[in-house]
Amino acid sequence: HAPAHFRVLLENSRWHGDKVFLVYEDEHITFEDHYRRAATLATRLADDYGVRKGDRVAVAMRNYPEWSIAFSAALAAGAVAVPLNAWWTEPELAYGVSDSGAKVIIADDERAPRLAGTGVPLIVARGAAPEGARTFDEVLGEVRADVTLPEVELSPDDPATIFYTSGTTGRPKGALGSHRNLGQSPMTVAYGLYRASALAGKDPGEATAVRRVTLLTVPLFHVTGCFSALTTTLFSGGGLVLMYKWDPGQALKLIEREKVSAMIGVPTNAWQLMSHPDFAKHDLSSLNTLGYGGAPAPPRLLERITENLPARAASNGYGMTETTALAIGNGGADYQAHPDSIGRPSPVVDVRVVDPMNNELPPGEVGELCVRGPNVILGYWNKPEATAETFVGGWLHTGDLAKIDEDGFVYIVDRAKDMVIRGGENVYCAEVEAALFEHPAVDDVAVIGVPHDELGEEVGAVIRLAAGVPATGEELRAFLDGRIAAFKVPRHFWFREGELPRNPGGKILKTHLRREVLGA
Ligand code: ATP
Ligand code: MG
Repeated sequence: HAPAHFRVLLENSRWHGDKVFLVYEDEHITFEDHYRRAATLATRLADDYGVRKGDRVAVAMRNYPEWSIAFSAALAAGAVAVPLNAWWTEPELAYGVSDSGAKVIIADDERAPRLAGTGVPLIVARGAAPEGARTFDEVLGEVRADVTLPEVELSPDDPATIFYTSGTTGRPKGALGSHRNLGQSPMTVAYGLYRASALAGKDPGEATAVRRVTLLTVPLFHVTGCFSALTTTLFSGGGLVLMYKWDPGQALKLIEREKVSAMIGVPTNAWQLMSHPDFAKHDLSSLNTLGYGGAPAPPRLLERITENLPARAASNGYGMTETTALAIGNGGADYQAHPDSIGRPSPVVDVRVVDPMNNELPPGEVGELCVRGPNVILGYWNKPEATAETFVGGWLHTGDLAKIDEDGFVYIVDRAKDMVIRGGENVYCAEVEAALFEHPAVDDVAVIGVPHDELGEEVGAVIRLAAGVPATGEELRAFLDGRIAAFKVPRHFWFREGELPRNPGGKILKTHLRREVLGA
């Protein structure tokens, strides 16, 4: 039997021994400590809870070190780890548990009461356990130095994870990923960082080697956190600094205190870091890489990074839950030359753009982006129809409209479901958003379709103004005149006080916004 990828990653991680792997507040967890606790928990899951190959183990926590221990234990025991969204309400969590058919749940004390009603055995990391549940430490018992992983035979195509998609366009779908999928991810990420650093004229060893300390600004329960950060760091031997929740002021302190070299998150994180009033007060000299993705990154973000954090390697990565995180990436000089592109595919990934009849389109033409490679998941859990629609002839249909230029650079034009059709003309919201972002008064923006009797849809923009910079709809329309075609210029503007509603993956919740401004 081929060695199954995750168990190999976990066993190899012991080699890094006393080096710090995870940092959370003032806790520093070494690789050896992480291994011992994960291996012990894996054994307990098998012995006390009867967890066998293919059983599902749900993990419902904020970004605590125990998240990683629980995730690693589930995989090491041969189970399928099911990370649940910590932002979910009680009924949403119940859906995740019943949809996945979890045999055991490992939760933190905030999630535990919301999960107690599921009737599934509950292990509680952090804080007290409710009636009938056991604490993490009770379950672990004695953690021995000579602990080994439970016996289980796995092959690379066996399922390893079910991650729920962000639910931006509908109900979250369970993405069933294999050991092969997660096994290729450290290479894809290391390659992306290596290339971004090399193209920024920096020592690429700094970005990929054991010296790297990453600050993770997004949740572990989405693929960016788990695969681009956690398992990659487990493999490389770097350090990973975790945050309970995103907070730019806290991030600035952590970068300085932990000498963070790379920050990984969504575009908004980098933007908010630089906008924080304490930004200039901190020593950020250790930081040499800013990686973000998961949501559109306006070209103005790169300009701001170049201005405020000169000589840093910035990179914009494109990925989906269905592609086990990063699939296509742009960095360094490539990114400076093509700031509106998501870059070129990972070396293990094929991409193409197709028309609605599934015919491949030539360079420059807009169609649906399709991805093929060892990172593409096995399919959707429990959803044979959605699987058959999305995975066609080995190609994943992303639902994103894109074009590829002659040099292989990929440009995301819009999500197919976001596109506004105004009197038969396609208006790509992402393009209009990028144009509005160029205006100094615009701090954040979401473009939406507004129902219109004659045209079908009109273009509307919800805007958060930058503090102290006033602007009116008329001014913004005048600003867009000549930058984008007249039919794309929004007719409706809404100005909003607070931040735009976003999910933990950094995506604007347009369905919420539409309800808010249109009442529909
Ligand atoms: P659901 O599939 O449940 O509606 P979702 O698609 O938002 O939710 P994810 O898998 O978290 O769930 O996100 C993948 C999507 O994120 C991609 O299809 C794409 O639209 C968007 N995306 C990811 N990276 C980038 C990027 N660098 N630039 C622009 N868009 C991106
Ligand atoms: Mg999706």
